[in-house]
Amino acid sequence: MYGDDIASVLISEEQIAEKVEELAELVAKRYPADAPEGDLLLVGVLKGAIFFMTDLAKKLTVPTQMEFMAVSSYGSSTSSSGVVRIMKDLDKDIAGRNVLIVEDIIDSGLTLSWLLRNLSSRNPASLEVVTLLRKPDALRTQVDVMGVGFDIPNEFVVGYGLDYDERYRDLPYIGTLNPKVYGGK
Ligand code: 5GP
Ligand code: MG
Ligand code: MG
Repeated sequence: MYGDDIASVLISEEQIAEKVEELAELVAKRYPADAPEGDLLLVGVLKGAIFFMTDLAKKLTVPTQMEFMAVSSYGSSTSSSGVVRIMKDLDKDIAGRNVLIVEDIIDSGLTLSWLLRNLSSRNPASLEVVTLLRKPDALRTQVDVMGVGFDIPNEFVVGYGLDYDERYRDLPYIGTLNPKVYGGK
């Protein structure tokens, strides 16, 4: 539906669905259904993680609650500076809760490491991360994550929540963009 904007499908809808089930099993094992800290709190990072977050929550066999945060990192649209601004904060206090950050993609890791520092200062009972995608070759800082869906090459990807200039989030798969979209030839 986007003409020839998508150069290739990197991860299909079926592959994503399978991986989400695997990750849901991993997450459910880590958290008891009747934890004294109460329901697991999923913190989704807007907007990229929305599909992953909702698909994951539906597959989890432990009760969860959902909160969302929006952060924006200064820098160009395709690279991160590590200087992060909160555009939308959590609505609830997370002190004493089991918190699981749900991320779309770890690129340099700078946004996530900032977020981990920020959220851990609010004294959650536990703080973990699950990310659908990670680019190992782009990592600039070490971040410990409980679950990773796919390690992918250092290429700009869109779809399944991920955008370029707010477009392509609605694609059910993860794909690479034709360079003509961002002004290349
Ligand atoms: P980091 O701070 O890890 O470098 O970047 C994190 C954020 O940059 C991601 O949450 C995402 O919003 C954006 N980003 C990084 N790589 C990609 C990519 O390949 N495609 C898209 N659409 N966004 C990306
Ligand atoms: Mg993100
Ligand atoms: Mg984006």
